[in-house]
Amino acid sequence: LSVTAKRLSARGDEESSILLLVHDVTALTYAQRERERFTAMASHELKHPLTVMIGNAELALELDELTPRTRERFESIVAASDRMLTMTESLVTTSRRGFSGRDEVADIDLRQILLESVASFRPTAAANDISVDVRADEALPITADGFRLRQVVDNVVSNGIKYTPRDGRVRIVGAVDGGRVVLTVADSGIGIGAEDLPRVLTPYFRTEEAKQKSGGTGLGLGISNDIVLAHGGTLEIDSEAGAGTTVTVRLPLAPAVTEGRA
Ligand code: ADP
Repeated sequence: LSVTAKRLSARGDEESSILLLVHDVTALTYAQRERERFTAMASHELKHPLTVMIGNAELALELDELTPRTRERFESIVAASDRMLTMTESLVTTSRRGFSGRDEVADIDLRQILLESVASFRPTAAANDISVDVRADEALPITADGFRLRQVVDNVVSNGIKYTPRDGRVRIVGAVDGGRVVLTVADSGIGIGAEDLPRVLTPYFRTEEAKQKSGGTGLGLGISNDIVLAHGGTLEIDSEAGAGTTVTVRLPLAPAVTEGRA
């Protein structure tokens, strides 16, 4: 059973009533678990050979006697296997997309998630000479499903890096502003044309420019938006073709903190 409780009147003790929604989700949960199990297994099995391929191609690149053409070929093996690895990883996160987008909720610090996520993408950014600046000076307390929020942050940060050409820049800011936790990821990348912008949340949609730049499924941003909405937040995308993209995620500050500040 899935039980959702909502307080209808949130003003102090007087006249507050609670709405309980109870759904039987047995079949849905079973089907979802099976799908998750299958994709997790497939992804796990694929990851190993891919890692071996990348590792060996990288080792080969260290050899002195390579001709420029052989070097180029090894580099393209590394790049293609890297893209496959990213896709395999996104298979798992995609399959974990629940019906609510919010399963295990706890009081968490988004700053922690942000810093961990950025650290995991630093090697990719460095390999492409992209500078990544992070500014998150205070705790960013939210009541949320940490796994899903990591999914959101991973998606917007990795897109910022993925869609930014060599020598570009990605600036990330996490702050508390007006009772909300605000995360912005601004890149100096390929951008999204005005005609494509309304479609980027549509499953499988990818711009022509994105397809030329790198691999991807066209699923991540829509899933991120669903997750953010399920947490009472908003995800906004501002972009200009050829100039860069800024993604802004706003989430409600954890209630305890909001009361403390009021
Ligand atoms: P993908 O797996 O293709 O990266 P997403 O769902 O994360 O899928 O994003 C959907 C599409 O939105 C991308 O294919 C790309 O066309 C566009 N997009 C998302 N983020 C950016 C960005 N930072 N810069 C340019 N285009 C972006």
